Amino acid sequence: MSLLVVGSIALDTIETPFGRAENVLGGSAVYIATAASYFAAPVRLVGVVGSDFPKTHIEFLEGRGIDLDGLQIIPDGKTFRWGGRYHYDLNARDTLFTELNVFEHFDPAIPNGCRKSAYVCLGNIDPILQEHVLHQIARPRLVVGDTMNFWIERKREELKRTLALLDVLVINDSEARLLAQEPNLIKAARKIMAMGTKIVIIKKGEHGALLVTESTIFSAPAYPMETIIDPTGAGDAFAGGFIGWIAKTDDISEENLKRAVIYGSALASYCVEQFSANRLKELTYLEIQDRFRSFRELSRFDEESVLR
Ligand code: AMP
Repeated sequence: MSLLVVGSIALDTIETPFGRAENVLGGSAVYIATAASYFAAPVRLVGVVGSDFPKTHIEFLEGRGIDLDGLQIIPDGKTFRWGGRYHYDLNARDTLFTELNVFEHFDPAIPNGCRKSAYVCLGNIDPILQEHVLHQIARPRLVVGDTMNFWIERKREELKRTLALLDVLVINDSEARLLAQEPNLIKAARKIMAMGTKIVIIKKGEHGALLVTESTIFSAPAYPMETIIDPTGAGDAFAGGFIGWIAKTDDISEENLKRAVIYGSALASYCVEQFSANRLKELTYLEIQDRFRSFRELSRFDEESVLR
């Protein structure tokens, strides 16, 4: 089934304890669309770049089968740039700079051909723009959205309006606490659901993810990684793997939502193995399936000896 992805497209400069990468491909929509492209077709990307955006990146996205009809290329414009530095605790990062450039006046106009997408994933952008996207499209089967502390702190009321339009909010643990003003994550999820979002998925970095629906709580482990080179985009790769699987199977049952959380976790675990989206570029479907199975093994145990 078709999937519409709207979000940032960036040139990132990233420093981690393991190296540095300058002006590399990044942005929430890039990670989401690339991860989802392993499952869903067509994936349609709506975003904005400047004329300095390298052609090789466009060729890569097209090569993944991503439909770029909704990509705006602003003549003489400069692409959004973001710089981040990670420390030995890879869960903490400093934003070194945010140069909005063409992203500052981004108006996500959804091309006619994308207005009837069955599934929608809204990457981390201004909640007013997220709402604007949803007003342009026919009611999709499922809308997934992401947000960040920047919007929670600056546009809480606008964000609350958008939350009421989302089916699934994917959010990290500290942001869930900030949004709900509640330290306990389950209570925080319930408070966010009271704002109108039907399902909340809380990402806990190297501690996995929590799926909270009205009737279920599902706790997925994180894949124990020995090599993490660059955590950038892990959350977006998670969202892309999650919605990609749902779009591929066209099944929003609770059991399938749980599988989608594991596929999201698998894509996120691959994402962090190299800088930028480099690992996602060379991934195979077989590798994704292998990691999906590893996740099952990770928390499988034999209850027989307990019962004996
Ligand atoms: P994540 O690591 O999942 O939070 O995503 C990181 C990506 O988000 C990077 O590739 C950045 O280019 C992008 N990004 C950083 N700040 C912003 C922002 N304020 N709005 C939209 N995208 C951003």
